[in-house]
Amino acid sequence: MLDYHLHLWPHGQRDTAPTIDQVAAYCERAQTAGVTEIALTEHLFRFRQADELLRGFWDDEPDPALAASMKSYWDDHARADLDTYVECALAARAAGLPVVLGLEVDYYRGRMDDVAALLAGYPFDVLLGSVHWLGTWRFDDLDDPLSMRQWTVRQIDAAWSDYVMAIEELAAGGTCDVLAHPDLIKVAGYRPAAPDECWARLVEAAVSSGMAAELSSAGWRKPADEAYPAPTLLREFVAAGVPLTTASDAHRVGDVADRTADLADQLDALEVATLRAFRRRKPHDVSWRTAAPGPATVPT
Ligand SMILES: [Zn+2]
Ligand SMILES: [Zn+2]
Repeated sequence: MLDYHLHLWPHGQRDTAPTIDQVAAYCERAQTAGVTEIALTEHLFRFRQADELLRGFWDDEPDPALAASMKSYWDDHARADLDTYVECALAARAAGLPVVLGLEVDYYRGRMDDVAALLAGYPFDVLLGSVHWLGTWRFDDLDDPLSMRQWTVRQIDAAWSDYVMAIEELAAGGTCDVLAHPDLIKVAGYRPAAPDECWARLVEAAVSSGMAAELSSAGWRKPADEAYPAPTLLREFVAAGVPLTTASDAHRVGDVADRTADLADQLDALEVATLRAFRRRKPHDVSWRTAAPGPATVPT
């Protein structure tokens, strides 16, 4: 199995440089769960380089409270150094740890060419594409009362439609390799009235872009109480031939490889034989049953 979605820092933690020992602890925990390769995929918005590039994307927000909240959240997060993070991951791999270098990249409407240009300067293996925010609304920030109140003033189906559109745009832009937690907007427990249309659009976004879709245990730790994607959406991805990764989306070592066996059961039930792995953003498929590691060398 793979755990292709891992964070080094909880959201409340800041200004801590990653260490090889930390990565080694992640790998050790993963291996006890039968995970043979992990991807470090810290949020792009944790880094000062993103701050320099994207600061002020909230300026168009007409709701001053939401704009101020986004600015505060951003200021709290965008503090680490991307170069140090990259060097740590590469040093961990050089030391023999089964780790690939990734990043979780949010969708910034109209700014993705700038994001791609920044990221092209680093030797990433895999880039996760995510939508956590619609404009400045952090619909998945369960601990933020302002963000959660929006669920009571917005139409649920309109929120889902906006979310799916953002995923479509993210996929069409070609910046990333994997659709992370593809139906994340269910996180707080609000489901669309007609999911089939949403599923069809999400599947088409993956198929037309060539992106893989992530099967993540993180949803089981949220009010949605369901893996990402929903079982019916997962079935649609598989039927359409969309390759899959598996992930925990852990933000601490205790959640690394969380519920890997349950993810394996889902793959089993759908007769999925391989997972998609990446080196330097080139895909290769690995058998998750035999737990075969990916190629040790980086393709040119
Ligand atoms: Zn995420
Ligand atoms: Zn994440």
